[in-house]
Amino acid sequence: LARRGKQLALIAEDGRVLVVQLGMSGQMRVLPPGPAGQETHVHASWLLETGERVIFRDPRRFGGLAVLPDPAALEARWSALGPDALAITGRALAAAIGESSRAIKAALLDQSAIAGVGNIYADESLFRARLRPDRLCTTLRDPEYSRLAAAIRQSLTLAIKAGGSTLRDYTTATGGRGGAQEAHLVYGRAGQTCKRCGGILEGLKLAQRATVFCPACQR
Ligand SMILES: [Zn+2]
Repeated sequence: LARRGKQLALIAEDGRVLVVQLGMSGQMRVLPPGPAGQETHVHASWLLETGERVIFRDPRRFGGLAVLPDPAALEARWSALGPDALAITGRALAAAIGESSRAIKAALLDQSAIAGVGNIYADESLFRARLRPDRLCTTLRDPEYSRLAAAIRQSLTLAIKAGGSTLRDYTTATGGRGGAQEAHLVYGRAGQTCKRCGGILEGLKLAQRATVFCPACQR
């Protein structure tokens, strides 16, 4: 089992590789033996020798599955991804997107630039780093990239600890809901009060995705 950004890879005994693209809402879940339950949005399911079922759910359909012939094909696929968000440094982040003419949020969502930041944690990280999501990448200075990289690592680490988002239900595989939703600082909170300054959070569309930020805290 290997992981890169939002992709999981399971290598079978015959060398073939199943790649699971978790996308925005994809989940792998292990269900106990017994009749199928009320699971919705199940796109694939495997019956294990133990009688347990492994299912792939993807309510928002940003994810997907692929079968590759061997680990070399996996290597080739993953070499096209940017550096892994969980270990990103300010220098690596600046190298990956610093020359981009896009808004910083749009660049963060580009998996070929940096692997593993989805819509939720792009917003959360930009809030933590106090950076406006519509700032152009070229306008960020090195200390801001360092701040943003630290914020990305922190946001993803907290989410994984809370059992939320990218690895939700995968690490525990219990089918319980991730706890990260309740802890979101800005994501899904447009019109509500900023947890830092008490002002009103604003929403806008960036890269076709809902984006929430605090106009007072984020510059
Ligand atoms: Zn604020």
